[in-house]
This record gives sequence, structure tokens and C-alpha cells, in this order.
Amino acid sequence: MAKGKKDVEKKVCEKCGGMQFILTDEGPVPCECRQEKLLKKRLKAANIPRRYENKTIDTFAGNDKRRRQLRNDANAYVKGFPPTEGKKGLLFLGTTGCGKTHLAIGILKAIINKGYTGYYCNIIDFFRMLKETYISDTAYDELAILERIGSADFLVLDDLGAEKPTEWKIDRLYTIVNRRYEQNLPILVTTNKNDTEELKEHVGVRIVSRLYEMCQIIDQFPYEDYRMRGLDMSSHLSEKRTPTD
Ligand SMILES: [Zn+2]
Repeated sequence: MAKGKKDVEKKVCEKCGGMQFILTDEGPVPCECRQEKLLKKRLKAANIPRRYENKTIDTFAGNDKRRRQLRNDANAYVKGFPPTEGKKGLLFLGTTGCGKTHLAIGILKAIINKGYTGYYCNIIDFFRMLKETYISDTAYDELAILERIGSADFLVLDDLGAEKPTEWKIDRLYTIVNRRYEQNLPILVTTNKNDTEELKEHVGVRIVSRLYEMCQIIDQFPYEDYRMRGLDMSSHLSEKRTPTD
């Protein structure tokens, strides 16, 4: 055998020869390798940043009450996915460095593992991607990007409010949020703003009102930089504020 051949060649399923289906007298039957291949494809399409590739709900570690609660809430959300009633999305409010993105991606991956499609969208990357469609001859256009983000079964919109808002940006963001709303598709939004009032000042009342209609709010993220002493967050469903009153 040639040295290192196994490492170079892609492993081909012995049962189906890479066809993902096995021909039987009753017709083609999906091979057991197919689910795994489809899962890999969905994970690849989800745009999860490399530094978060190994993050899961379980690796959102810590045994204090707050973190246990957050993990339980996250697992319960995944178990109930897709949600059928009430506010179907989640809005994570809290200061930078408290683990919002980690937990959001953990939820996203668990939902993809369940068989759904998902997409991770960082706001700053999103606008950079949109700008590229104007200045260069890319294979995709703005509509295609909005369509991809708008149509996944589950969407993580990370770091809302991180960008300096312009009318153009707010308009694009509203398009995404509103598309999810109209198609009844859940969204998970994270922001380092401390409450919906602060978020409203940043991205406007239109977006926040929509999010408030769509999302359970998980807040009470502490103000300290928790990267300094490990993660510590608490979650509850806040009904005490409304964005428009
Ligand atoms: Zn196979």
C-alpha cells in the first residue's frame, strides 16, 4: 500500500460506494452514511466561525446556578424546536464577554444536529458581505444573501448594535427581521446593549418592536467583564419592559 494513501484519499463508504443510496429490489434506499453527510453539509452551510466550531451548549461550562439555568433553558429550547406557540425566538441582552455567542452557537448546532438548517450571521460581517456585492463581481448578490439569511430554519443574528447604524443598514436589518417574522421563522439575536431601550436608541423602534414580538428576552447579564473571572449569567423571561411605551 502506498504510504499515506489513506490520509490523502477521501474515505468512500463501502456500503454504497459514495452514492449515499443502496439499490434494492424495492428501489433506492438511503445508506446509513447519508444522514451524516447531510449533517456535515448543513453544518458547513451554517457559516459558524472556526473559533466556535467546537462550542456546544455543554461546553458552556460552570456549575453555578445561573449557568446551569442557562444550559437548561438552551436545551429545553432545542428540545422544543421548532417552537409552535408564543414568542418563538430568543433575544440575548448582555455585556461583551459574557458568553452570549458561545451559547447562541451551541443552540444553533444542536438544532442543526436535529435535522434543521441554520445560519450564523455576525452583523459586521453581514454588512461587509453586502458591500462586497456592490464593489466586486461576486457570484452572489444582495438578494441572494438576504434570501439565505431569511430562509434558514433557525437564524443567529450576532452582535446587533455593534455597527454604527445608518438608514441603509437599519433598512437591511429590518428586512431580515421582518422576513423572519412574516415567515414565522425563529431568530436568536444577541446584543451587548443592556436593555431594549438602549437597543432601540441604536437600531430604532421598528426593529426592536418586531424583536420584542418575536423573542423571549434573556437578560440580567452582569455588567462586569466576565472574561476576567469566568462566565456568569442569569436568564429569565422578562416581561417588565416593552420597547414602545
Ligand atoms: Zn454509504
